[in-house]
Amino acid sequence: MTTSAPQPDHHDLDETAVIARDLIRFDTSNYGGGRSEGEADAAEYVAEALRALDLEPQLFESEPGRVSVVARVAGADRAKPGLVVHGHLDVVPADPANWSVDPFAGVVKDDMLWGRGAVDMKNMDAMMLTSLGDIIRSGERPARDLVVGFFADEEAGGVLGSHFLVKEHPELFAGATEAISEVGGYSTYIDGRRSYLLQTGEKALIWITLRTRGTAGHGSQMIRANAVTRLAEAVAALGRQEWPIALTETTTALLREVARILDVDVTQTAPDELVLHTGTAQGFIRGSLRTTTNPTMLTAGYKHNVVPDTAEARVDIRCMPGQEEAVLAQVRELVGDDVEIETVHTDIGLETPFSGDLVEAITATLQRHDPGAPVLPYLLSGGTDNKALSLLGIAGYGFAPLRLGEDMDFPAMFHGVDERVPLDALAFGSRVLRDLLATY
Ligand SMILES: [Zn+2]
Repeated sequence: MTTSAPQPDHHDLDETAVIARDLIRFDTSNYGGGRSEGEADAAEYVAEALRALDLEPQLFESEPGRVSVVARVAGADRAKPGLVVHGHLDVVPADPANWSVDPFAGVVKDDMLWGRGAVDMKNMDAMMLTSLGDIIRSGERPARDLVVGFFADEEAGGVLGSHFLVKEHPELFAGATEAISEVGGYSTYIDGRRSYLLQTGEKALIWITLRTRGTAGHGSQMIRANAVTRLAEAVAALGRQEWPIALTETTTALLREVARILDVDVTQTAPDELVLHTGTAQGFIRGSLRTTTNPTMLTAGYKHNVVPDTAEARVDIRCMPGQEEAVLAQVRELVGDDVEIETVHTDIGLETPFSGDLVEAITATLQRHDPGAPVLPYLLSGGTDNKALSLLGIAGYGFAPLRLGEDMDFPAMFHGVDERVPLDALAFGSRVLRDLLATY
């Protein structure tokens, strides 16, 4: 479904909202396992918007229909290292039965834009286009060279998007040392005080399959070596495990700043206690303080009265960068020797210092647009395309700026039902991004 004609009752929508709405109307659901739809249409829309700015976007199709778009923008000072500004065009699927609006209609109501991708991350895709467009149409140039990327397949690990480009076309990113993208830059309220979270790191991920074997037999028999029972014990052990607090540089700095804002002694207050004061962002922050091991899928059996000889569970493990081996060793101990562990998929963790020119520029820019609001670092419990770019030595940050109201449960919007973003937050984000790109 595509349209570029504004809805008559919303002719006053600003450009960022119009583009975000148009992008939501492309159903770009990524089902994983290589199955997706709509990315090519969204990519062509974005490419057309870039051409309208006299840029020369390149389209890359990793597999049929899996299209990413990259354009280089010459900066005012070409001697400076380049900055990658990237977003992804795919979204996770949405079941319309659970939503109060059509998730792919781009509905505007209650001063918000509703739809799958409204925050993850067609909002930022639109902000990238309008902030850049505003700079170029004003006859200005970004302060440094930009590599503007709209990637496919982020929601399935970026194999057919960012990882494909990094592997097959690394020259696209030549000269770039830093990147900004999603899941950071939004506001939360620390005991009522609006603050911005800049994402400076990502946890590592390990996806494992647990497999148990036992004696197959009739469901009426006495069977001690029951694969399902063994699996259930292992699943419960991992799901119930209380992993200890494991702070990194990022989370240490975050807690120190939160304590400073709350005016409490960071050494006398438990991390989980501090996090309770971080507003809706605690949905993201709690998981960043420790390893998590969440069982997510179960497979066993085929008949009510047959004991199966094998059973399988999938577990999603997220741990601190560099802690993968130690965590896997502990997982092995927790589930016991009867359980086979197969590592299905891993991705690295990242951590970038909360200091340096880009962090200072981001902080100063936010200060100009929201004076007095603190900017804090945080570690993302999930992952982004910055993991792929890090393979080229590019330091990635999460900075898709949004000024949100205190009652907005922003983390719940990611992959959530009734995903939506306030129109004024989109306009704010576009202004902040324009300022940053024009001056950094
Ligand atoms: Zn995303």
